[in-house]
Formats: sequence, structure tokens, C-alpha cells
Amino acid sequence: MVRYVYDFSEGSRDQAGLLGGKGANLAEMTRLGLPVPPGFTLSTEACRAYLATGTEPEGLAAEVSAHLARVEEETGRRLGQADDPLLVSVRSGARFSMPGMMETILDIGLHDDSVRGLAQASGSERFAWDSYRRLVQMFGSTVMGVDGALFEAELTRLKDERGAPDDVRLDAADLAGLVRTYQELIRRETGEEFPQEPAEQLRRAVRAVFDSWNGERARLYRRREHIPDDLGTAVTVQRMVFGNLGADSGSGVAFTRDPATGRPGLYGDYLPNAQGEDVVAGIRNTVSLADLAGLDPGSHGRLREYMETLERHYRDLCDIEFTIERGKLWMLQTRVGKRTAEAAFAIADELAEEGLITPDEGLARVGGEGLSRLMFPRFDASAAGDPLARGLPASPGAAVGAAVFDSAEAVRRAADGERVVLVRQETTPDDLPGMVAAQAVLTSRGGKTSHAAVVARGMGKVCVCGAEGLLVDTGARRLTTRDGTVLEEGAVLSVDGSAGAVYAGPVPLVDSAVMRYLETGHRDGAASELVGAVARALERADRVRRMEVRANADTPEDAARARGFGAQGIGLCRTEHMFLGERRQLVEDMILARDDAGRERALEALLPLQRRDFAGILEAMDGLPVTIRLLDPPLHEFLPDRTALIARGAAAEARGERPDAHDAELLDAVNRMHEENPMLGLRGVRLGLVVPGLVAMQVRAVAQAVVERVRAGGAPRAEIMVPLVGDVTELRLVRDVVDRVLAEVSEASGVPVECPVGTMIELPRAALTAGRIAEEAEFFSFGTNDLTQTAWGFSRDDVEAAFFSVYLDKGVFPASPFETLDREGVGRLVSIAVEEGRAARPGLKIGVCGEHGGDPDSVHFFHRAGLDYVSCSPFRVPVARLEAGRAAV
Ligand code: PEP
Ligand code: MG
Repeated sequence: MVRYVYDFSEGSRDQAGLLGGKGANLAEMTRLGLPVPPGFTLSTEACRAYLATGTEPEGLAAEVSAHLARVEEETGRRLGQADDPLLVSVRSGARFSMPGMMETILDIGLHDDSVRGLAQASGSERFAWDSYRRLVQMFGSTVMGVDGALFEAELTRLKDERGAPDDVRLDAADLAGLVRTYQELIRRETGEEFPQEPAEQLRRAVRAVFDSWNGERARLYRRREHIPDDLGTAVTVQRMVFGNLGADSGSGVAFTRDPATGRPGLYGDYLPNAQGEDVVAGIRNTVSLADLAGLDPGSHGRLREYMETLERHYRDLCDIEFTIERGKLWMLQTRVGKRTAEAAFAIADELAEEGLITPDEGLARVGGEGLSRLMFPRFDASAAGDPLARGLPASPGAAVGAAVFDSAEAVRRAADGERVVLVRQETTPDDLPGMVAAQAVLTSRGGKTSHAAVVARGMGKVCVCGAEGLLVDTGARRLTTRDGTVLEEGAVLSVDGSAGAVYAGPVPLVDSAVMRYLETGHRDGAASELVGAVARALERADRVRRMEVRANADTPEDAARARGFGAQGIGLCRTEHMFLGERRQLVEDMILARDDAGRERALEALLPLQRRDFAGILEAMDGLPVTIRLLDPPLHEFLPDRTALIARGAAAEARGERPDAHDAELLDAVNRMHEENPMLGLRGVRLGLVVPGLVAMQVRAVAQAVVERVRAGGAPRAEIMVPLVGDVTELRLVRDVVDRVLAEVSEASGVPVECPVGTMIELPRAALTAGRIAEEAEFFSFGTNDLTQTAWGFSRDDVEAAFFSVYLDKGVFPASPFETLDREGVGRLVSIAVEEGRAARPGLKIGVCGEHGGDPDSVHFFHRAGLDYVSCSPFRVPVARLEAGRAAV
């Protein structure tokens, strides 16, 4: 027969799935011999059975009675007996902590008779009536469905009548009267009596806790935290102990270490003469545990001892809830405690050092998300007020500066030494100088793979994008919030790229010692312990990881920085990023050239510039692979703005003038090249096949740069990568050109130039025909940004800000697929391509260079899928190193 109920003495902490986190840990403490008030747990199986049918499963009631009888025997009292009654608490406890999301009912067993028994046994009328009125209120709202505000209103009315500022001033008679008022309220609202039968109270309370699993609050929380909906909650039933029986009683919470810093030592709060709920609610000021040592040295000493036992036993930071009832210490709950990123690194390091956990366990307990939080300056949380607006946390860190509305103004003010925040509706390649000059970038449109986000992340610049609550008026140089606040150019903004929030005015900053270490290798200074812990975790990760970590970088400076952060090469050099600024004109000339001669002139002008770029990057990454991707611009980014040309023509016409001849010619060309959907248009390999001489020019520049570096005594390792390939023939055609040009340069220079040629896999068709493509490709690199875009049919520039919040709320996916790889769909394409690519070409080198390469969750997927490396923006390299290590242990 299925069994649904377990005594605390029967379970262990490994049974969180069955007994919930709370039930399993209560069982563990009981087994350890710590003073836990007796009780039992109804399993998650009971909850699931109940939720499936709407009725308690058969046998549950009998099991509960049998377990209750044991508690009654142990305590020598019966539930709700008229004199000195046993009272119990009924609490939820799911496998994963869902703080405050489900119901709790205390003081079950009180009724019109037993309240008098409790008064006598406790020696306090007031305490007994206060407990009873809490039960009627909690039971009335939670179990019987009466609006909680009605109870609150009655309480307030009574306090007003008595002129009492808080309920502590109400006496026993007041509270007894309030119980009658509450009972009347329940009768009026539900047509039912408050149940006087303890067994009925218990049964209904358990049902209410089961039901609360599907309450709106709980469902929303689970969706946010990615907790499955079908787990159900366990319910613990436990003898009540009271911290509100006088000065020798109280309740508290405690941690075995400081959860903010990880430093060892008891840490917590205690509230004399109070119940646990009062501590959490913060209605009165708590005292420290050191003060408890003065108030009740015996209990304090025992608490220390128990907590030491717990930390040794759990081999981790534990937090507990405890109650002292007339000098007797009771342990009510424990769990492995939540902690800040700083504390996570410090604790894992120290416990590994002590030998309490293995180095691999230590590595598993820290994470890339925490590391990235420690890498950037933070706002002093206590000093930030309400944000002006929220958007997507696109690039982490915190920055303060004056709002500017265009790139030129950003550059001008920055040159004068001013710190600025570049505010745009969205950014384009033209905004690059302004982005470089600014401390932070803020956009009102665009998702996490929008131009602003990708470029800011690459530069390690703070960025919040898609802040839809802001109306950005570039012309008038001001922004307006939803509530009508207007900020003019120059107003100071504080941008939190880790949280996706923007504040008006300056918020104080706290600098990052971890970043200083990553950039300079210095481990000393104020935060040397933390820095040491981070350094040791990264060293461990480097020792155990299988995957290499490369960086996406387009300049020698970025390449050098990435190398400093531990990058083992460049996995993606986006050459279109080298065509910005003044060179844009040359690209425009090349694309719009009317004849071969014009195009060749443009290409010839570009060649030496590209050669210099490549030589610089190869030098910064000397001895390590540098994957150079052939040009892949969505065409519109390099053409004059069509709308502006049309507007200029119309304005001239309105003035009765003829449109400028050059403008008219340009417009003609732009119209010819115009695409409704440029991201799916003449991009990538397509452009290389359509514009004669383009591929040859880029490959020549690479090859000549290699020759230059070899002659300078270097060890250049350039690789050439072809973007947006969908069919092997495209790759073959490009390869012909590549091979020819490499041979030409080798011959002309006398230096043999060998560059592996590979392809990006960023279209479903490429993934599905990977076996064919591998015949021509010496390596694959997954472009998961485009692969996600094309597999889902989601425009990567638009959808995140447009409707992803709705999709996330409705649970279509737990996280944006542009951020965390969609394993089921896009991941399957990756797996197919890995398998079929390697079947066709054993040992095929495979990496990923989409944004997912630096996303912690996705890194674990790539490890399992058998990739050789991940490549990500320089600032995510340490995160990827850490996660690649964690994936391997
Ligand atoms: C990709 O598509 O994942 C990729 C790396 O290329 P880009 O972001 O430059 O399109
Ligand atoms: Mg791409």
C-alpha cells in the first residue's frame, strides 16, 4: 500500500523530493539528536494524489491520525484537549524553497474550550486569547476564504476604540471580544461556523496548504524560478512551541556564517518574547545573537553547539529558525542557506581548504552568474531609490553619467572629461564612437542581441536596452518617463546593467576588486580574501575543463584584454566591425559601384586597412588561433539611410528646387538594394558570392598579415570562416577563391600561408546538411544568434522587447532563447550537426561563437554536446572558463 505520512524520526535530508526541503531537514535534525519539536510530514505524493482528484487519497486520514497519536503520546497531551491542549502548526514545504508563496496555519487545536485550558497552563490569559484570535484570523482567511482585509479592519477598529497604537496594548478581554467578532464575521461571510473540532481544523488546514500549491502567487513564482508545476508540496505538522510566553522566551533566525561575506561565526537576529512570524515581519526591532548571549547564556551556548554540528554535517552554510520557550531551545527549521556571490566563493574556498569538501565540490558550488556580478562595479543598494524605468539587463555593471542623445555629443563631452550615458531609441553602427565614449548605453528598443547589447557586451560597457517605459526624443534631446517625468540632455542618470534598471541622479558606486585582479593579476588590497577565492576557483576550473574558451574580438585592444582574461584564441573576429567610421564610405562605394573599375578602386583602398587590422590582432594573439570571419553585414547597415534621402529630395522639391543629383543617384542605388528583411537578405556568404573581388580582398589581407607577422618572427594562426552558409556549394565556391588567393600570396611572398577554412553553422539547413558541408569545412562554429533567429523565426532585433515578457509570463519558455540556448529545438540542430559533421570528417573542430558561448547554462549544454570550444565577449571569458570547468566535474 502507498504510504503518505512519515514521522520526523523516519526521514533524512536526501528525501527532499518526497518530504519537501523543510520536512527532509527536520527529519535530518531529528536524526542528529537536535531538539526538534515532534511532528510528521505528509509527502508530496499525498499532495499530488490530492490535487489530481480533489479529494484526500484513501488511507491518508488514518495515517495522519496514527502519526498524530504518536505526537500526543510523546507530549502527553491530546490535540485541542480542554486543559493544557497540544497545538500544532501546519506548514508547506516544497522540494525547492518558495518563500512565502504558500500557506501556513499556526495554533491548530484551539477552540472555545481549549483556549481556557491554554490560558491556565501557560499562566497567561492574554497569550491564550491572542493565539486563538490569530488562529481564527488565519484559518478564516486561508482555509475558509474570507477576505483577510476584513479581519484587519476589525483589528484596526478595536485598536482605535481602545486608543492602542499596536496590538500589544490590547488586553485579554479585548482579544476575547475580537475572537467573537471574527467568528461572527466568518459566519456572515461563509454561512459556516469556525470549526470547534481539532481533527476537522487539522484536516482542512492540510487541504488548504495542498491547494496553495496552485495559488496564483505560487504559480507565478515557479514560472519565474523555473520550478516544475507538477512537484506538489509536502506538509509538515509539528507541535507548536511558543516564543511569546514572556521574557525567558523568544524567537530568532541564525546563520552559521555571514551570508553576505561568508565569514565564519554565528550571525543572526533574536526577538525576545515573540513568535517566529514577528521576527520575519519586522514589527519590532530585533537584537543580535551576541545580545542573546547576555540574556540567556545557556540557550546561546547550545545554539552555537547545534549550529556547529549542522555546518559540519551539511558541509555548508546553514540557516536555522529557532524558538526559546521558557528557557528551552527548540530548532524549528534548517536548510543550506542562500548567500551572496561573494559569500559563495568565500565559503566554497574555505571549506575546500579545510578539507570538508573536495575542490570539485567547491567548484560546483560557485557559478558564472555570481562571478559576473563580482566583476563589475555595483550600485550601493541601500542608496538607490525607485528606478526611473526598467529594461533588459543587457551588459552588466553600473555606471553614472550625464544623458546625451547622440554619438557626437557623447564624444564631445567625453573629450572634455565628462562621464556620459548615451541614450538612443536603438543604436546603429554609426553610434559606435558614442558608445566607446560613454560610460553606459541606454536604449528604449531592442533585445539582448540587438546592436546596442552585443556591442556593449563586447566592450564591457554597461547597457540597458529595451527600456520601453522611456520615450526617447532625440530631436528635442530629452526623455520622458511613463509618469511624465522629463529629463533634458545633461541630466544625470545611473544605469544598472546587471539588474536592467535606470535611476535619475547619481547612485554611489562600489568598485570591483575581482575585476582589478582579472585585469592586473593583483590579489592584494581590501578584498584579497575574496579575490583569492575567485582566483583559486578559476584555476581549478582551468585544470578540469575539457572545452577551450576563446573570445569574440575585433580589435587588437579587445584581443589583448581577452588574452589577459584567459582566452585561448579568438573564435570570432567580425570584420564588418572594422568597416565603420571613415571606412564606411569605402564600403558604400564598393557596394554601390556602377562598374568594375569603381569597385576595384574601393577594394584596393580597403586592402591595406584590413591588413593592418589583422596583423594587429594576430600579434595580440600570437601563437593562438584567430578565426577571421568574412564580411557579414546586413546590407542596410552600410548604405545611406533611405528615409533620409527621400526626405531630403522631398524638401528640395517643396522648395521648388531640383533634388541634388548625387542624392538622386544614391537613392536610385539604395532603392535597388533595398530589402524588406535585411537580416534574411544579401548577407554573409551571399554577399561574398555576389560582389566580385570582396572575398579575395579580405583573404588577401589576412594572408598578407600572416606573412607580415611571420617575417616579424611571430607565430600567426589565422583561420578563415565563412558566414551564413546554407549549402555546401556556397562554401565550395568561396573556398575556391580562398585557396587561390592563399596560393598566390604564398607564391609571391615565399612564405607558405596555410589557413584552415571553416564555416559558421547558423541556418537550420546548414545544421541538417552538416555532413555535406563538413566535406568542405575544416571547422564548424555555431552562430547561435542567427541559428536561434532562423530556427524560431524570431527577428533577433525586435522580438525580445516586443513580446518576450508575455512569452516568459505564459511559460512558453523559461528564459529568452537568445540568451539561454533552447536545448530542445536549437540544441537539437546543434547535436545533429555535431554528429553528422564528425561522421563525415572525424576530429572536426567545433565551437560556438553566438552570445550563448558566454551564458552559464548554455556552456553546460555545449560541453555535453561535445564542442571543442566556446567563444564569447572578452568580459565573459572568465565566466565561460568557470562554467566549462563546472560542466566537467
Ligand atoms: C551568430 O549569428 O551567432 C553570430 C555569432 O554571428 P552574428 O551575431 O555576427 O550574426
Ligand atoms: Mg550570425
